[in-house]
Amino acid sequence: MTECLFCGIVEGSIPSEKVYEDEHVIAFKDIHAQAPVHILVIPKKHIPSVQQIGEGEGMLLGRIFSVINRLAKEHGLSERGYRIVNNCGEEGGQTVHHIHFHLLGGRALTWPPG
Ligand code: C5P
Repeated sequence: MTECLFCGIVEGSIPSEKVYEDEHVIAFKDIHAQAPVHILVIPKKHIPSVQQIGEGEGMLLGRIFSVINRLAKEHGLSERGYRIVNNCGEEGGQTVHHIHFHLLGGRALTWPPG
């Protein structure tokens, strides 16, 4: 069994509420939702963080953002607006070391973040 929580979700050994899946990307509801819509979009491939993103990941990132766009539309966020968050490293607040993008919306979000 994998030691990475999100690889476990990709494999199905750890349960999740999936809202999207294709060959390379999955999306699921965050278990500690911080907004009415809080979805995590991740690549199936294990990439620890943005710091490991190179030129070769361009297609994958394009796909991830097109999935985010699709999910934002499906969840009625396109007109209202929303936020995409990536936490990177310890001071960035990253707790799961498999790259993921938070899609947050459904309420007015404040700025700056804590
Ligand atoms: O950006 P960060 O690494 O802190 O985000 C990890 C996110 O993964 C958290 O928002 C946490 O609630 C979520 N999570 C989840 N399902 C799990 C474990 C963590 O949705 N089984």
